Amino acid sequence: MATDIINVESRKRITAQRQMLLELLREADGHLDADELYQRARQKQPSLSLSTVYRSMKLFKELGLVEEHQFDGTRRHYEPKQGSHHHLVCLGCGRIIEFSCPTTEKLKARIGREEGFEVTEAEVRLAGYCPDCRQRLLDSRTDAESEQETGERR
Ligand SMILES: [Zn+2]
Ligand SMILES: [Zn+2]
Repeated sequence: MATDIINVESRKRITAQRQMLLELLREADGHLDADELYQRARQKQPSLSLSTVYRSMKLFKELGLVEEHQFDGTRRHYEPKQGSHHHLVCLGCGRIIEFSCPTTEKLKARIGREEGFEVTEAEVRLAGYCPDCRQRLLDSRTDAESEQETGERR
């Protein structure tokens, strides 16, 4: 009997934690990595462990509540599943911009038809440098060049 009560209690606690994690993701407006999510969750519930975050994300993924992205090849980002959109990733600062792409929807339908496939996912990931980072890159190049010039003049 006692163990039953403990199980019920811990199950309730787990459910509450998962609910909180999902809400944090929704509040964050997408794209948190596990660490960021963990930091935010700990402010609300200091006892939460990182492995709980990972386990919950795995479950959410299986349930189709959350999408996992690997934008930079190392960290995994999570976001609540919502209408199909794609990502533009800045390699300089990690900024992520979402865009929609009607072409991809058409492609999904066409390839699906041609191959007799039910295409459920299509993701376009574009990477490059955002306006801020481009400016920074330009500035640092100009700095380096002018340093060189003064060096030559000496
Ligand atoms: Zn950037
Ligand atoms: Zn997104």
